[in-house]
Amino acid sequence: MTSCVVVEHVSKKYNGKKAVNDLSFEIKRGEIFSLLGPNGAGKSTLIRMMTGLIQPDSGQIRMNGEQVLPFKKEVKRYFSFLPETMSLYPNLTAGETLRFFSRLQRIPRHRCEEVLDVVGLLGFKDKKIGGFSKGMRQRLGLAVALLDEAPLLILDEPTSGLDPYWSSRFKEIIRRKKREGISVLFASHDLYEVESLADRIAILNEGKLYYLGTLDGLKARHPTEIRIRVRFEVPQDPDGLSRELGVAVNRMGDWAELICRREEKVRILRSLEKGGRKLADLHIHETTLEEIYRTISGRAPSPQMDKL
Ligand code: ADP
Repeated sequence: MTSCVVVEHVSKKYNGKKAVNDLSFEIKRGEIFSLLGPNGAGKSTLIRMMTGLIQPDSGQIRMNGEQVLPFKKEVKRYFSFLPETMSLYPNLTAGETLRFFSRLQRIPRHRCEEVLDVVGLLGFKDKKIGGFSKGMRQRLGLAVALLDEAPLLILDEPTSGLDPYWSSRFKEIIRRKKREGISVLFASHDLYEVESLADRIAILNEGKLYYLGTLDGLKARHPTEIRIRVRFEVPQDPDGLSRELGVAVNRMGDWAELICRREEKVRILRSLEKGGRKLADLHIHETTLEEIYRTISGRAPSPQMDKL
């Protein structure tokens, strides 16, 4: 698979602080690529540089083999873009908005109704945008981005205002685009959202690339650990338990926390009531991909006993 976007050693500073710090990666043709990271990680700054809205301090970005800046028609025709917040005229109807953008881009008028239908707004085509909810405006923005069927679709936090139904419809729309051979780059702060969608992900943290690869690769890099929290009828010595079972054991008040690998779980559970020990209570916690991500992005500490 050849690359449709190449980002090479790109950096951008704001007020002396690096918003994007020496990023390099490629997006392959036909893939769904997700840019992940907490708020402030640098996703929008990177997307603004990729779409030619701002210039990097250093490094270069090529799209379909062409430098993004200075901006050429060939580059603009290569991608469609849904910014994080889109300025729309409240006095125009949904239909008028689509027709405005279609005229600008010389797109046949029938596409307007097609894309309004895709985002579920055909019934609202004669309604003014001023009365639209945040989610409806977001869907209208997506309709604008879908108008020109460019080979690359760039979406910045496209589901931020959408309810669960439309978030899931959005995923279907993206999958359909991929089947049509369109490459998709989308930014999100929510790993759960991209879990069943992205072919590859890049996780940014404080402007740097923390991880680049598949979700399976991320899982392999952070093998999920199991925490078995147990309370025995008669408290047990954690060091003795650790020696006997061959796993780490932490004392947590009346509870003991045993940390093991997934494949050790059943053996450990079978051993817990050996030698006359009796369990009073038990709780099993498996680390999810979402937790791995939140730990990377510094948004949540690992689960604590007091959350039981
Ligand atoms: P994200 O999209 O991941 O939430 P941003 O790219 O918006 O992150 O922001 C990255 C960093 O750059 C943040 O610290 C943000 O405050 C800063 N930043 C972004 N745009 C500007 C700007 N126009 N002026 C000053 N600082 C900015």
